[in-house]
Amino acid sequence: MRCPFCGAEDTKVIDSRLSAEADSIRRRRSCSECNERFTTYETAELTLPRLIKRDESRVAFDEDKLRSSFLKALEKRPVSIDAVDSAIKGIIHRLRATGEREVASRLVGDWVMDALRELDEVAYVRFASVYRSFQDVNAFREEIERMENASDSTKKG
Ligand SMILES: [Zn+2]
Repeated sequence: MRCPFCGAEDTKVIDSRLSAEADSIRRRRSCSECNERFTTYETAELTLPRLIKRDESRVAFDEDKLRSSFLKALEKRPVSIDAVDSAIKGIIHRLRATGEREVASRLVGDWVMDALRELDEVAYVRFASVYRSFQDVNAFREEIERMENASDSTKKG
C-alpha cells in the first residue's frame, strides 16, 4: 500500500481491528519513509448484480422496490414483517451468490414468487397475476389449477 503523503511504497501495518459490525477491517499503517500514519479499510465486495429487464435495459437492484412488491402482495394478510424481511434477505443472498455482474430481472421475479408461495398463497396469487399475466397467461392458469387441485386433495385427505 503506497503512502498517501510521500508516495513511498514501503508502509507497514501497525494495528488491525474488526469493525463493530464485523463487516470491515480497519488497518493503521505507518510509512517507513516519512513516518506519517494513515488508515485503510478492507471490506468484502458486496456489489449486487444489475438486473436486465425484458427490454434489455439494465437497472440497479432496488431493495425498497422489492419490499414494496412484497408489502403490496401481502396487504392485509397475516404475515409478519419479520417474515417479509427474512424473505427479502434470502432473495438478496441468492442474488449475491450468483456471482454475476448482471442477471435477468425475471429470475428475481421467480424468487419472489417462490418466497410468496411459502409465506401466503393469496399473496402469491396476487403477485403472480400481476407479474405473470403479460408474459405467460397459460402458465398462470395452470398454476391456479394446480393450487386448487392441491387444496382439494388436502380437504379430502
Ligand atoms: Zn510516506
